[in-house]
Amino acid sequence: MKFATKAIHAGQHPDPTTGAVMTPIYQTSTYWQASPGEHKGYEYSRGTNPTRKALEDCLAALENCQFGLAFSSGMGATDTLLRLLKPGDEVITGDDLYGGSYRIFTKVYQNYGIKFHFLDLSNPENITPYINDKTKLVWIETPTNPTMRIIDIEGVAKITKAHNILLAVDNTFASPYLQNPIDLGADVVMHSVTKYIGGHSDVVMGALLTNNEQLYKDLFFIYNACGATPGPQDAFLVLRGIKTLHLRMKAHCENGEKVAHFLKNHPKIDKIYWPGFEEHPNHDIAKKQMRGFGGMVSVTLKDADLQETFRIASRFKVFSLAESLGGVESLVNHPVSMTHGSIPKEAREKVGVTDNLLRFSIGVEDIDDLLADLEQALA
Ligand SMILES: *Cc1c(COP(=O)(O)O)cnc(C)c1O
Repeated sequence: MKFATKAIHAGQHPDPTTGAVMTPIYQTSTYWQASPGEHKGYEYSRGTNPTRKALEDCLAALENCQFGLAFSSGMGATDTLLRLLKPGDEVITGDDLYGGSYRIFTKVYQNYGIKFHFLDLSNPENITPYINDKTKLVWIETPTNPTMRIIDIEGVAKITKAHNILLAVDNTFASPYLQNPIDLGADVVMHSVTKYIGGHSDVVMGALLTNNEQLYKDLFFIYNACGATPGPQDAFLVLRGIKTLHLRMKAHCENGEKVAHFLKNHPKIDKIYWPGFEEHPNHDIAKKQMRGFGGMVSVTLKDADLQETFRIASRFKVFSLAESLGGVESLVNHPVSMTHGSIPKEAREKVGVTDNLLRFSIGVEDIDDLLADLEQALA
């Protein structure tokens, strides 16, 4: 099946008892057993729930793989994956990450004796010198947040496969509509479902998707043992959101492209980060591994200090000044004081996350209203 068909149907079957076409919200914690251990595949909703199962199967289908787990947040998904590691293990990751990923690596798992190497991954070969027999995981995020660098997933996968190291890709910014890391050699995909997949800024959820059955079993064990699992209402809302993922992503890409071109020539803009520009340093890889350039655009403001940047960020009328991304509505974010507040100044400035940087999540409103709002805010 093609993407749009899977987005609408995968994992979902008419309800066997009533014929309901939409998967019901199975608002139950427990399930009847005919005799001890004799049940219909469901025992307790921390482990499995039919509404959540439909969602997990749908998410796996969208990433072209067999196994899916949904979590109560993206960080819950990341946490579960990291629990595969043991003290002494080492992880190689990028130097331009979602702030919460950086925080869980450095402030939580480093305390348990796990070592993280933060590298510039624009060339996959940069990984090789850091690999030793303790290296268990390579964690990459592409496009990166907020400076939209693109990491060559296939190039990294060649190296991790040769050394038998797990490769995990945070695919939140691209969504499965634009990029499928497992097809490019990754072992597991992580999503903050909160963003494009949910798409309506009304649910916090995460997911892990894989084609590796043993890895799925190991992750399921932690998932059930540690319990970062979402409720059935949220699973229902996300199933509903996914039905328009392909339509929304098309519109995000179209509006994103128009906004990027508008901002590029604006006198108030200094740098612009959007992988669709030919002069973007990783444009060729973006073209190769993605089916579109997405709806995320970041800029630095010309001659703007922190105060001036705050002043401009507060002037928007259609864009909302808020954390998060990927919803139908447009958002403007100031990474230094919002999403990336937990990254030390030195580390973030090294990758261009400066006081005058604004990140836009371009929604699917009418493009004329978005451009007019940008124009008046920057004036
Ligand atoms: C939001 C986000 C996360 C964390 O997901 P939550 O659902 O907020 O826990 C991880 N990675 C990226 C790229 C994100 O944007």
